[in-house]
Amino acid sequence: MALTPLISEKQIRARVSEMAAEISRAAEKKSPGAPLTILVVANGALFFAADLIRQMTVPVRIETIRVSSYGAGTQSSGAPEIVGFPPSEKIRGNAVLIIDDIADTGNTLAAIRERVLSVGAKRAEICVFLDKPSRRTAPLDVDYFGFPIEDKFVVGYGLDFAGDFRTLPFVAEINA
Ligand code: IMP
Ligand code: MG
Repeated sequence: MALTPLISEKQIRARVSEMAAEISRAAEKKSPGAPLTILVVANGALFFAADLIRQMTVPVRIETIRVSSYGAGTQSSGAPEIVGFPPSEKIRGNAVLIIDDIADTGNTLAAIRERVLSVGAKRAEICVFLDKPSRRTAPLDVDYFGFPIEDKFVVGYGLDFAGDFRTLPFVAEINA
């Protein structure tokens, strides 16, 4: 197993700060004074979301969900199961920002976004730390992303390989 560093801790810190400012500006413009409901996709997005949300300057409400689709491999099974979706009243009528670690095929986020809109969210935007656009198979508009990456399997800053490497402070490509 070899790790090749791709994105440094310093690059991550700078980019996350920029994103927090950009998202806060946009939220304030679209719904002045209203709280932004953040839906964090655990576990992958936990570190990114914690760093990002703490730097936002608008009021927020935080909800979490889990999704199982990957198992132990590096290929998505394509059928994400959403676990622990919040009660509808936490979503209905609200501006929702869905935060995940990475948009790969887009299946997971497309399914989550549909569910959020189906319970009556006023708006559902997508924010990911990494975007792998070359792998997209589901139609998905990513509203905010930290870094675009090529079609490589990466770990760190929340992203795991079969549960390992999540706590690496930087992003690295993993080669089995
Ligand atoms: P999608 O539904 O194919 O977009 O899959 C999204 C999920 O797959 C992410 O939330 C990750 O959990 C996982 N995933 C996709 N690519 C990677 C990667 O390069 N490293 C680690 N996890 C990944
Ligand atoms: Mg994930």
